[in-house]
Amino acid sequence: MNIMYKSTRGDKNYLTASQAIVKGIADDGGLFVPDTMPKMDFDLSDILSWDYRELAYRVLRLVLTDYTEEELRYCINSAYDDKFDTPLIAPLTVNAKGNFLELFHGRTIAFKDMALSILPYLLKTAARKNGVAEKIVILTATSGDTGKAALEGFADVEGTKIIVFFPEEGVSDVQKAQMVTQKGANTCVAGIRGNFDDAQTAVKRIFTDKELKAELKDRGYVFSSANSINIGRLAPQIVYYFYAYAQMVKAGRLNMGDKINFTVPTGNFGNILAGYYAKNMGLPVNKLVCASNDNKVLYDFFGTGTYDINRDFIVTVSPSMDILISSNLERLLYHVSGSVEKTAELMKSLSEGGKYDFKVEDGFVGEFATVDETFAGIKEVFEDTSYVMDTHTAVAYSAYKKYLNDARDATPNVIVSTASPYKFAKDVLKAIDPKYDGINPFEALEKLSEVSSTPVPEPIKGIDKREVLHKHVIDRDEIKDFVKEQLN
Ligand SMILES: *Cc1c(COP(=O)(O)O)cnc(C)c1O
Repeated sequence: MNIMYKSTRGDKNYLTASQAIVKGIADDGGLFVPDTMPKMDFDLSDILSWDYRELAYRVLRLVLTDYTEEELRYCINSAYDDKFDTPLIAPLTVNAKGNFLELFHGRTIAFKDMALSILPYLLKTAARKNGVAEKIVILTATSGDTGKAALEGFADVEGTKIIVFFPEEGVSDVQKAQMVTQKGANTCVAGIRGNFDDAQTAVKRIFTDKELKAELKDRGYVFSSANSINIGRLAPQIVYYFYAYAQMVKAGRLNMGDKINFTVPTGNFGNILAGYYAKNMGLPVNKLVCASNDNKVLYDFFGTGTYDINRDFIVTVSPSMDILISSNLERLLYHVSGSVEKTAELMKSLSEGGKYDFKVEDGFVGEFATVDETFAGIKEVFEDTSYVMDTHTAVAYSAYKKYLNDARDATPNVIVSTASPYKFAKDVLKAIDPKYDGINPFEALEKLSEVSSTPVPEPIKGIDKREVLHKHVIDRDEIKDFVKEQLN
């Protein structure tokens, strides 16, 4: 079946998957969604016999239907290779405290690698298929992990340039060091005085700035996005929900055909939305537990039906989830309401008054964990099993515990584990023992290695000794001029 993509807000253009990937976001500011939900065309038990790449092919061909088999296999094989430190790509660790789907075995040791390792290939292929001659400029606002993963993915990829904006005060020291030391002649990184929402809103504005677009087109550039609003980010994330299911069966923690829960540490709602797509494609999913930190807009939303960003933005120990506007939620609103008019109305209400009302049931549960609960989770799991969770994974762990207290749900659960503990070593150590409070973030890497008897991952070994190559810090209203300058 051929799946076409259209805007969540009513724009009547229907695009192929590859066209939607090049474009990133629709002209009316909406996000691209499939016009019909793809459906699994294999037996569920088949997934037991496929490795990650084969499974990726079987799933992606249903979603990105205008790519040929050769094109898809090229993209998949280029992405999921020895850039990952295990041939399993996304291994499941099971212990007495839970089942952890580890999405942090790629080059930047966080889950964004799962999609951003393949996106440059999907995009390059898409540009070729559609006769795009211009240089593709990737503009990305990041709360920390996307930026680095996108930089790694696109560095020195021919025909592309990448510009990343991150909130100067809103990312961890290690995250910042990873970004500002990025190599690659086509990479550019700037800190923004403001939070992630400021950066994301400014970047979104550029995408819908017709004048700027026309000006740059004349100079041989087109914009695209590596943010999770790009359907080329979302699609590859569907794969690991199937993969997790297969591994749960193999580990004896789930019977083939039975339902499963996933608990997902959530920020921009991209990861968990991919789980929703997997479920709608036919994976037997019971609940998708949406775990938030203290910025619990989504928890309130799923509980009350009111989405309201009129509140203080809280800087927590899980910075990649410090988000008030979860962009991908727009796609869920569209799928649940089935109406572009309704979705456009809700988004208008959000941009004008910072809130809207809409009740979503459909198998989602909102939960949250405070910083104290997050720390308690890390400590408890480490003391009982020696397994070390990062702060984001720990939000999910602690949120799921709360959910179980309320719901007494016996469905086997997978905690989607989104970062290596080394990425947030300082806070992880502090959680394990308060005596590490105030430790230098780079010394923390060695210390965590000692405490946990695990090696410091290659990608961040000696990160503080690398040369800083990107020194820009700008105000959010300077973003547009900055972009123009960079493309001159
Ligand atoms: C991006 C990120 C998240 C949030 O994922 P979304 O898709 O934005 O909801 C959670 N944890 C980590 C470590 C991340 O990098």
